[in-house]
Amino acid sequence: MKGFGVITKGVVDWMEKPDYICGPYDAIARPIALAPCTSDVHSAYESEGPHLLNRILGHESVGEIIEVGTEVKDFKVGDRVVIPCTTPRWRNPSIQDGLSQHEDGLFSGINFSSYEDGTFANQIKIRSADMNLAHLPEGMKPETAVMVTDMMTTGFHGPELAEMKFGDSVCVLGIGPVGLMAVAGSALYGAGKLYAVGTRPDCVALAKEYGATDIISYKDGKVYDQIMAKTNGQGVDVVIVAGGDLDTFYQGLGMCKNGGSVVNLNVFTEIASINFPIEYTGAGFLGHKKITGGLCPGGRRRMERLLSIVEAGRVDPTKMITHRFHGLESIPEALALMVNKPRDLIKPVVLFD
Ligand code: NDP
Ligand code: ZN
Repeated sequence: MKGFGVITKGVVDWMEKPDYICGPYDAIARPIALAPCTSDVHSAYESEGPHLLNRILGHESVGEIIEVGTEVKDFKVGDRVVIPCTTPRWRNPSIQDGLSQHEDGLFSGINFSSYEDGTFANQIKIRSADMNLAHLPEGMKPETAVMVTDMMTTGFHGPELAEMKFGDSVCVLGIGPVGLMAVAGSALYGAGKLYAVGTRPDCVALAKEYGATDIISYKDGKVYDQIMAKTNGQGVDVVIVAGGDLDTFYQGLGMCKNGGSVVNLNVFTEIASINFPIEYTGAGFLGHKKITGGLCPGGRRRMERLLSIVEAGRVDPTKMITHRFHGLESIPEALALMVNKPRDLIKPVVLFD
């Protein structure tokens, strides 16, 4: 098989690998829609380790099944399927001890483009197929569904992890595709005031459409100061961090009300430690602020639930797609967009049909 991935840190190229062998619970698919993620950029250019040598990138995909294992019950050759970026091994008993995303150690639930080859290839192998795949809903475009596999499940994890309550005031720091889905998810969860922080005009327009009540530009001064000014010095109940750097995260902690929640969705690379500024910690976290973060949940039911939200017309993630490419050969160009992040980019997709 042929795929596009990271040869060694900072060097990406095509690679040939042996065809997959389909295990009894696996399925093999050909891609019909793929999308590059900011995390692919982290994996290719910022992170390193033996697992990221000659590793095919990509973890956002919709496919058509070309082979199923002997024990797979609910899927057959020719089915069009939504493939979550997180595909835990649901038959691993240690999943019962903790979170499916980390069923056998940190990040073990996300094998694509990390511990095993990813989806930027002419073949995709899905483990625990019955438990991870979802049927592409009748009438839904593959490009719509591919936005659910990572962006929607990640962004929606923000309000989930915050255990948001009706009427909570929320600040989403960063409105790239992850932050935009956090805005949409927070609005569905019942946010009151919903501040969205970013500057790209298309992202700003979409943040408003997805439910942001106020837009803040981090280029107009410290976001912490702007939020405190807008909230009479009170801050917000929920902060979701989906962009910026460590200082952005610190400011998020500062602007969180005592008793509120700060959720980090950012992947931080190339930093050695996190040192919270004391003025934001309430004399050492005595303000009952909950700090959390998480890897996006995957699995079949997660996909089916999120797809049902799209089918019901409550959120349309297709609106985030700004660039469309066709065919496997266009993957390098689509990934390069994620590296360069032009002002008119929200999310690119690569389509195959
Ligand atoms: P983008 O780069 O598309 O968006 C980043 C956003 O942050 C933009 O809106 C940008 O604004 C804004 N921003 C930049 N600087 C600041 C600042 N100083 N203060 C506040 N906002 C700022 O990223 P993605 O949406 O694609 O991804 C976001 C993060 O989520 C990445 O780190 C990614 O790896 C991670 N991720 C995490 C997952 C998980 O499971 N937890 C899964 C998938 C992704 P502007 O409009 O000016 O560009
Ligand atoms: Zn991702």
